[in-house]
Amino acid sequence: MAPEKEIKAARPGPACVVWELTLACNLKCLHCGSTAGGRRDAELSPAEALALCEDLKRSGARGVALMGGEPLLRKDFFEIAARVRELGMELSVITNGTVPGEEVFARLAALAPRAVAVSLDAADPALHDRIRGVPGAFAKSFAFIERCLKAGLPVSVITTVHKLNLKELPALRDLLKGRGIAWQVQTAGAEGGRFSRDLLLDREEFYSVGMFVEACRRTYAPEVLPVIGAHDLGYHSLLLDNVSLYEKWEGCQAGLSVAGIRSDGGVMGCLAMNAPGFVEGNVREKSFTEIWNAAGGFAYTRSFTEDQAGPECAGCEHARTCGGGCSEMSLMKTGRLHNDPYCFARIERELFPEELPGPFARAALSARGRAAGKLARLGRFFSGKRS
Ligand code: SF4
Ligand code: SF4
Repeated sequence: MAPEKEIKAARPGPACVVWELTLACNLKCLHCGSTAGGRRDAELSPAEALALCEDLKRSGARGVALMGGEPLLRKDFFEIAARVRELGMELSVITNGTVPGEEVFARLAALAPRAVAVSLDAADPALHDRIRGVPGAFAKSFAFIERCLKAGLPVSVITTVHKLNLKELPALRDLLKGRGIAWQVQTAGAEGGRFSRDLLLDREEFYSVGMFVEACRRTYAPEVLPVIGAHDLGYHSLLLDNVSLYEKWEGCQAGLSVAGIRSDGGVMGCLAMNAPGFVEGNVREKSFTEIWNAAGGFAYTRSFTEDQAGPECAGCEHARTCGGGCSEMSLMKTGRLHNDPYCFARIERELFPEELPGPFARAALSARGRAAGKLARLGRFFSGKRS
């Protein structure tokens, strides 16, 4: 192992580490990218998990998002979450909100998390239950959300969109607005074993999700409906403001500002890239800090050069900073990296090139988005500081 000072100096730690505490899950969600259900072989023990918290802090990690499977199924969930906070890192929790436990809300509130994110895929309980694979899931998740709100927790709802629930977006908007719930809309990938590729959104449907988010953001003040698209929901649109929480897309952040840890200790740039070739090491063999700082690690983002762009992205003016879009989306759709066909710039160029504004009009549109100061106000809702 290299001396710690040398390791620490190598590069800044990740802004956020998404940590799959367990692959065990009580639901059977259609679109689950890791086909959660049973535990992985050899998941980290409670002692290993607590040691990993220290390691993450040492690496310079600023925030940790605990997810699963269903993280609340881990008996030591609160010990791990508390350690993250004691070490001064921000905490987010991503849960399906169906695991009972009256004490959960007060214990979560005591940890002052940045967000408690609950999955909700439809306003129609029967459809949500069908997507989540268990009857009664909607009622439990919605009751969980209401209890969290009562406990003063910063609640987010995550909706994962595919062909079965695309039409649910307006009903979900009506269900969520005015409740102080931050809403993140994302699209499903096809990595999971329960999901049929036939359910993936086509490009027009994908773009319509961006249009929906933009329409909501123009219609409602962030205080009424704080809604964002996931960070990988399209980029470099010439017509829409960036639908994510950021002013512009700066490329896939896997291994740059984010990292993922599987419940067996495998370290990845992003857990969405559910393929063995993207595991950079295991915390049982090397510390996270060493893996994060290893020379040549996470090469697909850290060492990207424009000439690696695939045919979908070759020649694009944004290729150098964009890196060819979301790595997971690119792999899933085209079988290779740096080649995302679901990019708003590309979709617009191909589907309605005559609609696109020139650079002058674009600058005015962009200034409009910034002048509204909406990103800063939205940011409050997604950072746990809502008042
Ligand atoms: S075409 Fe490729 S490189 Fe260009 S903005 Fe889209 S994803 Fe990025
Ligand atoms: S692979 Fe996609 S989802 Fe993962 S960090 Fe990169 S852009 Fe985000």
